[in-house]
Parts: sequence; structure tokens; C-alpha cells
Amino acid sequence: MVAVFLCLPAPAADADLILHNGKIVTVDAAFRVAEAIAIKGERITATGTSAEILAAERSLRTTVVDLAGKTVLPGLIDAHVHALEAGLSEFRAPLPVLDSIAAIQDYIRTVARSRAKGAWIVVPRTLPPRLKEMRFPTRQDLDVTPDHPVAFDGSYVWGANSLALKISGITHDTPNPPGGEIVKGPDGEPNGILRNASQLLKGAARSETFSTEDKVSALAKMLQLYAAAGLTAVGDRAVTPAEVAVYEKLKSRQQLPVRVILTWRINAARPVEQVVSEIQASPWTTNQGDDWLRFGTFKVTLDGGQSVGTAYQRMPYGAFGRQLYGQTDPDSRGTLFIDSEKLYRIMRAARDKGWQLTAHVQGGGAIDTLLDVFQRLDREKPIAPSRSHVMHGSFMSEDALNRMQRMGVIVDVQPGWLYFDVPALKRVFGLENMRYFFPLRSYINRGIIAAGGSDHMIGHDKNGAVNAFNPFFNMWASITRRTREGEVIYAQEKITRQEALKMWTIWAAYLQFGEKTRGSLEAGKFADLVVIDRDFFACAEDDIRRIEPLATIVSGRMVWGRL
Ligand SMILES: [Zn+2]
Repeated sequence: MVAVFLCLPAPAADADLILHNGKIVTVDAAFRVAEAIAIKGERITATGTSAEILAAERSLRTTVVDLAGKTVLPGLIDAHVHALEAGLSEFRAPLPVLDSIAAIQDYIRTVARSRAKGAWIVVPRTLPPRLKEMRFPTRQDLDVTPDHPVAFDGSYVWGANSLALKISGITHDTPNPPGGEIVKGPDGEPNGILRNASQLLKGAARSETFSTEDKVSALAKMLQLYAAAGLTAVGDRAVTPAEVAVYEKLKSRQQLPVRVILTWRINAARPVEQVVSEIQASPWTTNQGDDWLRFGTFKVTLDGGQSVGTAYQRMPYGAFGRQLYGQTDPDSRGTLFIDSEKLYRIMRAARDKGWQLTAHVQGGGAIDTLLDVFQRLDREKPIAPSRSHVMHGSFMSEDALNRMQRMGVIVDVQPGWLYFDVPALKRVFGLENMRYFFPLRSYINRGIIAAGGSDHMIGHDKNGAVNAFNPFFNMWASITRRTREGEVIYAQEKITRQEALKMWTIWAAYLQFGEKTRGSLEAGKFADLVVIDRDFFACAEDDIRRIEPLATIVSGRMVWGRL
């Protein structure tokens, strides 16, 4: 024993921190579970048994923590959030939980009591598939105050009460605005649903304004909440140049508690020449920046959203689409914002600037369009090394999976939507059309790397937010495929706990070109980790979503919690 020890290189023996007597889930290639981990500065210096690590890495100045059997995971990565938007959503006041039409009515009554007669009440953005009633609120639903005009923000589609319609002069004679629709009820009168027509509401505040300083504080707070949820890196998936400046300000004050990888979303609703020259003139490209703040992906938004009935599908929204989204055309398949030729020219320009490429695609029609363009680009130059990916890809297909596998295209997935959105979506499209809704097992079996993400955009509560950013909830949804109605959706697409953990660690790091420095607990990598309150692998399956972080460490520094 002694002889063996003497053959090893001289021990460093000067770790800053040693965690021992725990279950250190390394997520290395062998998925080894160690007892102890040593950290010096920003990096991991060793993992191993408690005896080995204490003997080799400890000095008089080392802080030694006995984990008493607790589990440590690599710092979790959410590949898809909208941190600034979410931070601002509760910056001024907490948001109510609006999960039913009754809750919306209570909210309106409460606000009405303290608001001057005649002043507008805008119900914060709520997605109808998440409402218990699974229908879009109408004028009658919102007529709970006679004295206030009320508007309901459902994103592309808005609702208005009778007074709001009256003040805005909207009657059955009002012509539809270009591209929009004043939806009529069975009596031929406006039923309060305004599709792409909320601009007709006169005087309803459509968004708040915030100073740069407000934005910096809101962002700092949101990133702290991510650290508290056990996240050590996030991908912000839609930033504009002005928002990049907010991140840079926060970084210059050394107030980034977690790593951030930025996705530049360009406004593609302009002539293609203009979009292309903006790409060419921009100073940015993938992997610019440092280990705290860097550029990841170039993005365009190719279709609308499944929660608002505008995702571009292979099949029509049908009759249930009317109830859920206020859609009046049963043949509507949603909206494709960019045609294939224009998308090709934009993506080619971004590819030539060295960007990793993606597009927001939810409906199957949009996924197919994106893959057509990726295939064109792939014929010119292999696309796989750019780690370009499908974003969301909610309505996958066997054909799309095969094409992704052939090209080496990867994916950014939101398994939490299995829980939140399948109950409404299966009523819209039929259960048979949900076969490839987030087909996680199919991705893994084909070797398609899937990075886990929440698409968090509104709210500060990790479980109540739209979308819930609690990584343990999202891993639980990937493992169980259980909806909020308790049904398991296509059990053959379930994945294991190990695989779910990889989606929120090493595979998310891979999508971010970060797998060499993070995503697993191995010597030489950044000391990004989370200590949790129960055993991820041994706890009951339903307890996975209830796991709570005890401490989050980023670059060797405890950014949240205590040990
Ligand atoms: Zn998003």
C-alpha cells in the first residue's frame, strides 16, 4: 500500500474544499459514483473514495465537509430559458397563478377593487391549454366588472370584455385588420376574441417600460433564482443586441451567479437582403466570449406556438382549435413565418459567419421546412460539426428523426410540456398524432443528442412559472411522461434517470460546446455542482420532482445555499 502510494506523483494536498462521505454522481463516461470530490480554485482536482481524497488532497487550510451520505450532481444546465423576460415579469409585482377561468375572474375582481373606474385591467399572459377549462375566455367570461375595460393577454390572441369592445368601437361591422380577425360568436356579434388584432384595443397598455437599471436588477434576480433551483448554466434563447448589453453590464459588475450562453434571435420579418447584411455586419459568432458569458446559437422563429394555435402543423387544428384558440378556420394548420428559400439564404449567411444554427419550430410542417434547409446546407458542407439543432421540435415524425440522425442534427427539448400541454393538445390533434411528441427514447436510440430545457419565460416560482424551470420536475417529466391528468403518454418513449440527468448536464453542455469544461464532475473541469436533499437514483420515482437543492457551487464558489 505504502509502496503504491510512493509511486504516485506528489500529492497536491492543498484543496480549497473537499466534500466527502457522499454520493458524487460524476456523469463521466462510465457513470462512476465517487464518495468524495476535491476542488481548488475554480476547478475539480480529483474524485475518488473519501480515504483517497482526504489523504491526497487535504491540507491544513482545506475546508472539509462531511456530506453524511448526501448526493452531489454535476451543476444542472437548462439549455432553454428567457431570463430577462422572466425576470421582468414579476419585477414590479408578483404574478397570480391563473390556471382556470375562475382564477382569472377572481384576479379581475381583485384588481378592480383598487383601480379607478374606467381604467384598463390587463390579465397577464396566460396560455389557454394550461387553463382547467381548456378553452379561450370570451367576452362573457371577462364581464365580471361593469366599470373597467378588461383585456386578456393570450399572446397572439387576446380577449376583451364588453366594455373594452365598446370603448374601442369594435362591433359586428368593424372590418378585420390585415392578417387579424375579430372572432364572432354564434349570434354574429364579436365574442371578445381578437386574433392578431389586439392593436384594436384603444388604451390597453400592451407592455410596461423598464429602465436599463431595472433590467439589470431583474436579470440578476432571475439568475439567482436559477442558481437556487440547482442550475449552474443556462442558455438564453432569444437575445437582441440591447439585451446583450444588459448581460454585459451584469458581467462587468461580476454579478453573474451562473454561466450564460446567448442565442441571437434575429428579426427575420424583413426583406432577406436586409437580414443577410445584418448577419454579415454583426461582430458576433458562436463561442465568442468567455466561460461566464458567451455566444451560442443563431436563431430565427419559423412558426408560431402550439399553446396559441399558430404552430405550423402537418395537420389542421380542427374543431377543438376553435374552443381552445378561438380559431374559426377548421382547416388552419398554423403559420410559417419564413418560406424555405428565404430561410435557406438567412441560414447560409449565418453558417458562413461560423454560427451554430437553430430555429424555433413546434409544428411538424415547420420542422420539415427547417430540415429541408439543413439538408441543403449539409450537401454544401457537413452540418454536424456546427452542432446545429432543432429547437423544440414538438411534433416530430419518424422521417424527421431519420433525417436528423443522418445529418447529425441535434435537438433542444422541453419534456415539461408532456405534463402541461398534452391534455389539451391530444384533444386538438388526437392521441395518435402525439406519438412523436418529444420522442426522447427515439432520439437516444438514434444517437441524437437531446439537451434539456424548460423554455422558462414568465414568473419567478420554479414550479408555478411558465414554463416550470425546476430541473428536477423536468427530469421527472422525461422519465415518467406523465401528464397533469395522470396519463402516461407513449410509455415506449420514456427514458431512464441516468439519461434524464445527462440531458440536463453533459448533453446540454454538448449543445453549448461546453462538454470539455463542464457537464460532468471530473478532474480538470470547472467545479460546477449541486448538493441535493435526497438520492436522485434511489428515491421513489414521484419524489424526483420534489428534490430540493441544498447548495449550488459554480466555479468553486457557493452561489446559493449552505453546507
Ligand atoms: Zn423559447
